[in-house]
Amino acid sequence: MKNFEKKLRLLYEKMDNAYDKVCKYYGFECKGCTDNCCYTLFFHHTNIEYHYLITAFLKIDLNKQKKIIKKAEKSIEEINLTGSNKRLKNICPLNIDGLCIIYNHRPMICRLHGIAHELQRPQGVVFGPGCEAFTKTAEEKKYFKFDRTEFYIEMAKLEKEFKQIYNINKKFKKTIAQMLIAKRDKLQKEIN
Ligand code: SF4
Repeated sequence: MKNFEKKLRLLYEKMDNAYDKVCKYYGFECKGCTDNCCYTLFFHHTNIEYHYLITAFLKIDLNKQKKIIKKAEKSIEEINLTGSNKRLKNICPLNIDGLCIIYNHRPMICRLHGIAHELQRPQGVVFGPGCEAFTKTAEEKKYFKFDRTEFYIEMAKLEKEFKQIYNINKKFKKTIAQMLIAKRDKLQKEIN
């Protein structure tokens, strides 16, 4: 597991460096806003990131963990009621007072969100505009190429390796709240 954690950390570092470079060019800094990405409904698709995130979650003080789980339950209720609405009323359960409590362990999509980007797909290049705050800051500037493709490919390779070693066959698709509840349920099963 340690070896996988190291590989994942290195990949995250690459993403963070590329992201910072682009932010520097635009003069963009994410300071938290009403359009906060932690209110956005995202699904995460890798077991390896799930394990990495849960490792950090389990290090949080137990009382806080319980509060976070309560928030996760509320968040899931909302998703079940509203369906795949992109913007949620409940912030991500791991966001406490505007800050991500597992910041260094946050998944790829949280790291790459916010800035204009592109992705090479078999059918052609797909462009993404970035968040509202970014668009306001960057409107005067020319597009600075931020290609997510190599990060997605490297993550997919790492996930494949991880699934092979740990004999995992199922595909993964969960929001952060669903990840936390899945872990709670697994822990409960182990106790019973
Ligand atoms: S994991 Fe952290 S960065 Fe990602 S949505 Fe939750 S609080 Fe925000």
